[in-house]
Amino acid sequence: MSLSSQNCVCCQIVKELTIPPGGIIYADEHVVLAHNLDVKIPGYLILFPRRHVEFYHDFSTPECEKIALLMRDCSRILTGLDGVERMYIVSLGEETRHVHFHLFPRYEWMLKKPYWNQSKIDAAELFSQIRKKLQVNRQDMEDPSILAMVDYLRKSVCA
Ligand SMILES: [Zn+2]
Repeated sequence: MSLSSQNCVCCQIVKELTIPPGGIIYADEHVVLAHNLDVKIPGYLILFPRRHVEFYHDFSTPECEKIALLMRDCSRILTGLDGVERMYIVSLGEETRHVHFHLFPRYEWMLKKPYWNQSKIDAAELFSQIRKKLQVNRQDMEDPSILAMVDYLRKSVCA
């Protein structure tokens, strides 16, 4: 095991040392799909390969395929929710190096005060600001709005 994987939050989820809100939504031999751990937005998910890889070009072909299929499923399901207008899919990897994708449903209410008060939508800035504003302690994620969403997603994602 590389040093970098020891404190990796994605690897901790794979090893079940960290349990995401409501438990894992989908996992197989290649990938894991879970609710994000500390931003209270129902349906804001994280998707990553089981293996600790730090670059997209390190993905195996089955990992690529499974990630793409789950993105498609999640995009369809999340944009079907009330108030979800756009689907942001973001991968950055500065804080957590293990490649992971943020599947971020951009709800209608996010374009209103106090979340956003400009006419032009700067999606990267909106994503960053909302994440900071709605960040909570891990225990506050064990909320009916999040748990019901996780249940719904577990039933809806078939990958
Ligand atoms: Zn990792």
